[in-house]
Amino acid sequence: MTFESLGLHSSIIKALTDAGYTKPTGVQEQAIPAAIEGRDLLVSSQTGSGKTAAFMLPALHKFASEQQVAATSNTPNQEMQASRARGERPRFKPAQPKMLVLTPTRELALQVTTATDKYGSQMKRIKAISILGGMPHPKQMQLLSKNPEILVATPGRLIDHMESGKIDFSQLQILVLDEADRMLDMGFIDDIEKIVDATPETRQTMLFSATLDGVVGNMAKRITKNPMIIQIAGSATKHENIQQKVHFVDDLSHKNRLLDHLLRDVTMDQAVVFTATKRDADTIADRLNIAGFAAAALHGDMHQGARNRTLDSLRRGQVRVLVATDVAARGIDVPGITHVFNYDLPKFPEDYVHRIGRTGRAGRNGVAVSLVNHAEGINVKRIERFTKQLIPVDIIEGFEPKRSASAPRSNHKPGGWKPGDNRGGPNKPGRSFSKPGAPRKEGGAGGGYKGNRSNDSGARGSFGDR
Ligand code: ADP
Ligand code: MG
Repeated sequence: MTFESLGLHSSIIKALTDAGYTKPTGVQEQAIPAAIEGRDLLVSSQTGSGKTAAFMLPALHKFASEQQVAATSNTPNQEMQASRARGERPRFKPAQPKMLVLTPTRELALQVTTATDKYGSQMKRIKAISILGGMPHPKQMQLLSKNPEILVATPGRLIDHMESGKIDFSQLQILVLDEADRMLDMGFIDDIEKIVDATPETRQTMLFSATLDGVVGNMAKRITKNPMIIQIAGSATKHENIQQKVHFVDDLSHKNRLLDHLLRDVTMDQAVVFTATKRDADTIADRLNIAGFAAAALHGDMHQGARNRTLDSLRRGQVRVLVATDVAARGIDVPGITHVFNYDLPKFPEDYVHRIGRTGRAGRNGVAVSLVNHAEGINVKRIERFTKQLIPVDIIEGFEPKRSASAPRSNHKPGGWKPGDNRGGPNKPGRSFSKPGAPRKEGGAGGGYKGNRSNDSGARGSFGDR
């Protein structure tokens, strides 16, 4: 299968060739032709599988085809420029985007905008801008005054602009909800419904999510019409190209020594270390810097400018070890990240999946290591239940835990699992916990765990979309 055979406009094919894309990914093969036909889509496939292009290429194709028909397109807000030239206080004419992409975080929004610039680099007069919390108001107004075709936004800030009449969705043709599950987790459901209600009924809607069950599924049904459902073979949580391991640790000093050792792995290019709190992210980044690693912290208390600089340094390879919290690191797409370390386990099994998805990007292999206190064995089991994969326990000579690691995991079948055995290779995960698709014996554990979600108040408040 080639991009040409999907029927994409020649200017897009040229941009993809420049970007080094040789053939579409699985999700792109399925989504692009259906989206070009104008179908609504509900898509779940794993992180790193190329979902951005799956929705952006057909949209750009549509705009490119329209441009060929009508030579005119959105132009900068001329009325406003003219009045400014006359020295009058400009009257702001609302932006009328043709496409809106909603994302849960600023980082993800910027990433989608960057990808759009890349995919649309050979097209004339296509502008994509991001509307984000934390961006200065004049800057946002300046971006909106260009009347961009494509708006990429986090829900909270977008609502502010809608309410003050800066954006008019009457010309909107395409609505995309990227990482819809995450947006709902972050409490954006009311905002999303309000935004959807402000868009024309005739729009095309594409929703992307790790899961299409439950709340996401219900919302998806409400906002789409006769959608095509694309689920890439249970892969939402599988990550077969990522070698996962657990190391049990006795205490903090053991954990730190082990982390330092693992960070010296010669096969490591770049790494993300996940911590539970922003403070830990800072402390550990400082400690690693002193220990001689080029480390930097990334979390929601940092100003947007500082976060962007850190991400740029990571992309350029100047930062080798990024120490980050969940929300700040979500959506980071840096191919050099070979290793992910869970210094602390995530609160929710879904976050584990998103964390390890920071490595193994664009078809490469990755390593994901969790440093786990003995008492946290139960949380590892929850993750295993969620991903339906066992995570092998690894032990490194000289860093052995004093206590037996198997004790807290004794609910597993006896004899089934000793520390050190069952080491899966990159394409050879350990024994599966239960056959994918088989009924779960341990009833409702995943659900109960998820039920704590309402405690996750930090996401929106601290990271602050608004
Ligand atoms: P997702 O949204 O599914 O997590 P992204 O859209 O962020 O995935 O894409 C992941 C990475 O794969 C990006 O670096 C992107 O440039 C790259 N990519 C996407 N499609 C292709 C393709 N067809 N060929 C090569 N690389 C691709
Ligand atoms: Mg994505």
